Amino acid sequence: MQPDEFRRIGHALIDWVAAYREGVAGLPVWSQVTPGAIRSALPAEAPELPEPFEAVLADLERIIAPGLSHWQHPRFFGYFPANAALASVLGDLVSSGLGQLGLNWQSSPALTELEEQMAGWMRQLCGLSEAWCGVIQDTASTSTLVALLCARERSTSYGQARGGLQAEELPLTLYCSAQSHSSVEKATLLAGFGRANLRAIATDADHAMRTDMLAEAVAADLAAGRRPCAVVATVGTTATTAVDPLEPIAAICREHGLWLHVDTAMAGSAMILPECRWMWAGIEGADSLVLNPHKWLGAVFDCSIFYVRDAQHLITVMSTNPSYLQTAADSAVTNYRDWGIPLGRRFRALKLWFLLRLEGAAALRARLRRDMALARWLASEVDAAAGWVRLNPVHLQTVCVRHEPQGLEGEELDRHTLGWVGRINASGAAYLTPALLDGRWMCRVSIGAETTAQADVEALWALMREEANR
Ligand SMILES: *Cc1c(COP(=O)(O)O)cnc(C)c1O
Repeated sequence: MQPDEFRRIGHALIDWVAAYREGVAGLPVWSQVTPGAIRSALPAEAPELPEPFEAVLADLERIIAPGLSHWQHPRFFGYFPANAALASVLGDLVSSGLGQLGLNWQSSPALTELEEQMAGWMRQLCGLSEAWCGVIQDTASTSTLVALLCARERSTSYGQARGGLQAEELPLTLYCSAQSHSSVEKATLLAGFGRANLRAIATDADHAMRTDMLAEAVAADLAAGRRPCAVVATVGTTATTAVDPLEPIAAICREHGLWLHVDTAMAGSAMILPECRWMWAGIEGADSLVLNPHKWLGAVFDCSIFYVRDAQHLITVMSTNPSYLQTAADSAVTNYRDWGIPLGRRFRALKLWFLLRLEGAAALRARLRRDMALARWLASEVDAAAGWVRLNPVHLQTVCVRHEPQGLEGEELDRHTLGWVGRINASGAAYLTPALLDGRWMCRVSIGAETTAQADVEALWALMREEANR
């Protein structure tokens, strides 16, 4: 494809994406296709000869579009928001168009330095001290894995350079709350700790980590001759947005020399609001943290920022230095390949730069406050409605609810919950994610799609009551 053809088709595609966004509210929120339907509509083999763009566009409409679930829909209340603000989409387009690859600083100086600056902007917007240095990773899952690798190497004085974990005399143990994200367990496995060495600490009535239980678990492992290594605390858990208390957790970590990693994948975006920062009081006592601008803030996936206080330690753990990557500038610059797992890195900072410049921090703050106000409105409706129970304190944008008609309990209640949530999702009118909480199904209402307005939440609440009472 030559640039002139790219220009013609590219303009048409921008029009197509803009029209998609304009029309998305009229589509069923969640794709209703059956498994295999999309694949069976596609040719089994790649074309030998070029096809016209019009044919590709036609199939985009005919085959691909019906297989989309619409995360940008105003009545998307599932999971957590994955806002792809159009300003950041343009930054991502530039990133692809420039075709840059960050292997080291020299391979794309602007890629590295814009990323350093964006990590700095976000650090300031979130009220973090200058002690933190950041890097943009693909996802929080990766960031948490890197954090646990850093923890492992600190505990073992860089045992990876010798016999690794296999040569350790005492098993290293990890701690997280029973409500922590599945990525913590995955990182534990991938980093070689072994599932048996991960302690899921019990939570309190608000689903936050019980620090007395954490202290007990650490003491028990020490008494049994194991080596406590790290705690992963969560600010804004996935099921209920619970807030683990960082100050007492950090104190336990300090006392025993444990690495503290804080998973704020979702709630981190809210830290641009000064009134939310109580949630991570004590954050300066952590060693690493992750926040995902690709969730609520609006940077199109993927854009996860990983911050550490001791960048030199991270570099020592992650660096390899083959001759073909060495440059004369190395001692004076940041080489982000030593800050994470992949060697090649995308120019992700562009989408954050476009978002922050074209929207401005004030508009982002206003949107997050709007979503939190909508969540408080729904919470008050639920509290006032007979038969409805709210299951979490609503300090962010997620409201966890159950409809509990008299006489329904146990598995019958679960069937009722999954029934009304399933009917809403199947209708295409809205999308909600049910989740298990303390062994019982409940419904998460996660507010915060960029286009969600009061009318959408009101319509959802009407639908919830209608389907639950059916
Ligand atoms: C979404 C989420 C994750 C996982 O994020 P990815 O970027 O998809 O890996 C981890 N932890 C929490 C608390 C989350 O909400």
